[in-house]
Amino acid sequence: MSDCIFCKIIKGEIPSTKVHEDDNVIGFKDLRPQAAKHYLFIHRNHTEDVSDMVAHDPDEAKDLFRAMTHFAKVDGLDKGGFRIVTNQGPHAGQTVFHTHFHLLGGEHLAHFGA
Ligand code: 5GP
Ligand code: ZN
Repeated sequence: MSDCIFCKIIKGEIPSTKVHEDDNVIGFKDLRPQAAKHYLFIHRNHTEDVSDMVAHDPDEAKDLFRAMTHFAKVDGLDKGGFRIVTNQGPHAGQTVFHTHFHLLGGEHLAHFGA
């Protein structure tokens, strides 16, 4: 998608600090980190959100989870643990409409859930 900022990051038209690249997926630092470590992982194929991605090709979700868990090991994030989040739609506050997963860690995160 020509007007998608994450597609522009993939093409190198917008600068980013990349931490992971493979044939299918790239990972880069979030511009406004919400934790000591905050990365975004995206598939090279443009989809709008996780529902769109899974409807289009569920293997793309597999590619992303493989990349994130691999990177978590390389980075050492897996030692203390980490959180993976995706926002879809207005109630979740999605702001960029190229499917992405937030990978957060590097410190104790506010507990989420019951
Ligand atoms: P969302 O709110 O859609 O779940 O997440 C979008 C994320 O993209 C936000 O955490 C925001 O900080 C990040 N972001 C938006 N524009 C850019 C950019 O140009 N570069 C980088 N590295 N992150 C961005
Ligand atoms: Zn895109």
